Amino acid sequence: MTRYLSIFLLLAAIALVLIWGLGAVLFFVPAPISTPSPTATPTSIPSPTPTATPTPGPLSVQLELPSAVAQGGTLAVHLRVPTHSGSGPLSLIGQLDDRPLHFAREGGSYWALGGFPPWATVGPHRLFVQARNQRGEVADVEAQFEVRQSDFRIERIDIPAAREGLRAPEIVQDEFRIVAAIYAEFTPQRYWRGRFGAPLKRLAMSSLYGTARAYDDGSVDSYHLGADLRAKSGDPVLAVASGQVALAQELQVRGNAVILDHGWGVYSNYFHLSSIAVRPGQKVVRGQLIGYVGDTGLSTAPHLHWEVRVGGNAVDPWPWTERDPLRVNE
Ligand SMILES: [Zn+2]
Repeated sequence: MTRYLSIFLLLAAIALVLIWGLGAVLFFVPAPISTPSPTATPTSIPSPTPTATPTPGPLSVQLELPSAVAQGGTLAVHLRVPTHSGSGPLSLIGQLDDRPLHFAREGGSYWALGGFPPWATVGPHRLFVQARNQRGEVADVEAQFEVRQSDFRIERIDIPAAREGLRAPEIVQDEFRIVAAIYAEFTPQRYWRGRFGAPLKRLAMSSLYGTARAYDDGSVDSYHLGADLRAKSGDPVLAVASGQVALAQELQVRGNAVILDHGWGVYSNYFHLSSIAVRPGQKVVRGQLIGYVGDTGLSTAPHLHWEVRVGGNAVDPWPWTERDPLRVNE
């Protein structure tokens, strides 16, 4: 009987030890494991020195731009992002007056260029940018600047009777649609560096940018949107900056035409060529031969019509040869 009792006591003791052990396993050991805290505040795991990892501040951006731009001028807008606002790329929505303003990323900051035609309204203009980072934070910035008056001359042009038909509104409109579709494209990569070169080896101006024009006996009905350079038929025409050929074809009004895309919404145009030396899509470098001076299209003598477009607007090309517009503070 005592043997049975001692066996029973032994089994009971074993059972107690097992229950206690299991209890320890159930109630003590798994406790920290069974609560993995799904919110997983990751800072609590390494946490060597919590002050060493500063919390990123709210998104903030800064705009840098000149206080004024002339009619026919180019406005460079620089958007800076302070380091505490985080690294990843921002998505930016820009508006210049009532037009969209496209930004391109370069280094740790962003740039946008605005072009002002000869008829840009003189006085205060407004710029608005909304920035959004990858954390979903939003920052709005606004800036004002002035458009200053430029003095443009008036010029009278006599069109030879044989080319008079090229001024027909349907021809002008059809062709405008072709070139406007090109200017509307925004290439985020910048191909040009520094100032633009000259499109001809020898420069002789025959008609300035912005000249108000009256054709034949009519009144002023348009502005000259490029610079006309006097030259001999067949003189080589050179790319003013590196870029990609966006158009190389014969047009009715512009004659044999080349349009180069320099990126960031900047284009240079070369019209009335006798012949074209590049093909669409081709990459060109500054100073490269792209065609030859001619008298094709709506032209009265051999010359090169050279134009620079920024954000769709024709701007004065000469300042581009004197100064890089990205050097805002010089
Ligand atoms: Zn011209």
